[in-house]
Amino acid sequence: MTQPTEALVALGQQYYLPVYRPRQLILDHGKGSRVWDIDGREYIDLAGGIAVCGLGHADPELVAALTEQAGRLWHTSNVFYSEPPVRLAEELVAASRFAERVFLCNSGAEANEAAIKLARKWASAQGRAPDRRTIVTCRGSFHGRTLAAVTATAQPKYQEGYEPLPGGFRYVDFNDLDQLDAAMASGDVCAVMLEPVQGEGGVMPARDGYLAGVRALCDRHDALLILDEIQCGMGRTGPLFAHWGDGVVPDIVTLAKALGGGMPIGAMLAGPKAAEAMQFGAHGTTFGGNPLAAAVARVVLRRLQSPEIVANVAKQSQALRDGLAAIDAELGLFAEVRGRGLMLGAVLAPQYAGRAGEILDRAAAEGLLMLQAGPDVLRFVPALNLADDELAEGLARLARALRAFKAG
Ligand SMILES: *Cc1c(COP(=O)(O)O)cnc(C)c1O
Repeated sequence: MTQPTEALVALGQQYYLPVYRPRQLILDHGKGSRVWDIDGREYIDLAGGIAVCGLGHADPELVAALTEQAGRLWHTSNVFYSEPPVRLAEELVAASRFAERVFLCNSGAEANEAAIKLARKWASAQGRAPDRRTIVTCRGSFHGRTLAAVTATAQPKYQEGYEPLPGGFRYVDFNDLDQLDAAMASGDVCAVMLEPVQGEGGVMPARDGYLAGVRALCDRHDALLILDEIQCGMGRTGPLFAHWGDGVVPDIVTLAKALGGGMPIGAMLAGPKAAEAMQFGAHGTTFGGNPLAAAVARVVLRRLQSPEIVANVAKQSQALRDGLAAIDAELGLFAEVRGRGLMLGAVLAPQYAGRAGEILDRAAAEGLLMLQAGPDVLRFVPALNLADDELAEGLARLARALRAFKAG
């Protein structure tokens, strides 16, 4: 008789568009940073649903917010108001320290799509011709999979075969101000869009002073600064917004991932320069600001700003770094560990380059869910309320997995 796991994996392989290659297990339920599959196997979750489950799984307050709203009202569309998204917008503006208005949507790609469109609309309202509405983005970035967002994503592997791509994008190396200066010199740039910590591109933080330099160039050339904080925002690096540590004020910030704690929601926050650029009819979404997602996001936003969570991110970041250093002292696998807060990447030493996928297989076999960021980087983006015992157990399982990997 076929086991349920095997049968469900076979169905997934048969019926899903095969754009992913999921691990061959069927996750069933979770609690905090522990998850169980349908065979009752326990996993420590250091992946957090790709930096989404900021408060772990089955958080009682999030479950209560969702079920309360589920018994009240599910959906209105944006031609009617309901309270959760209105309150969420108010609370996001207050928390952001820069924004005046919010556009709620369903995903990161949609938030970036809205940001790209807003920047173009802003430039066109100033009478700039279409060929003078270029948006500069960084190599190694990831901004999502819609056609405009994937064009902003300056990595050929995500774009190949989807040409013709939308025009009006230009790429520069991340962390290189001279290149950005040159790319903006002709005066045709309306916005610069980047991640304060690149996620999919290998967990690469902006170097000290880079964002301030980008801000200065944007001011000089009258371009908007768009920060994609979809992965690095919502407290993941410590402060609620990753750019707070860099001392810059952006014009637009995009959020998604952890904002809903697992409910699909995205947001584009716009500051005074751009907030009025889109008027009635200029953009829209049927599901965006859905009351169910917004009710949960309000609780997430409040909780992720709490002193307990901020302190826990700092504490567990150091504990994770210490644990990775201890593993490296024993096994010598890493070239460096980089990132901020609970967004860390362990870069494989050159002799192990390209083998992150194998390590993830070993980790799953040891009961550990984790991620890679490209073929050379192990990525850790766990829940921000990760507990001491969960991390200790996760590191023990990681050490076992890496010993097995090294033994071949
Ligand atoms: C995940 C991600 C996106 C895309 O979000 P989706 O919800 O998958 O569309 C965009 N930007 C960054 C930085 C991301 O990490």
